[in-house]
Amino acid sequence: MVCPLCGGNSIGKVGNSQFYCWDCFVEFTLQKNKVTVYEVGDDGSLLPYNREQSQIIAGGS
Ligand SMILES: [Zn+2]
Repeated sequence: MVCPLCGGNSIGKVGNSQFYCWDCFVEFTLQKNKVTVYEVGDDGSLLPYNREQSQIIAGGS
C-alpha cells in the first residue's frame, strides 16, 4: 500500500481500510478498487479532497 498522492509508503493504518499519509497529511480509504482521499480539518473532521481525485485509481493487485 502506498499513498495515492505522493506514492510514498509513509502510511499508517487508522481504521478498517482507512489509512493516513504522514507526508501528505491526508487520509484515504480503500474500497474495492477505488481510493477516496480526504483532507483532515483542523478539528479532525474529514473533508473531501477534490484535486485530481477522478484520476486516482488503485493500481496493481
Ligand atoms: Zn502521501
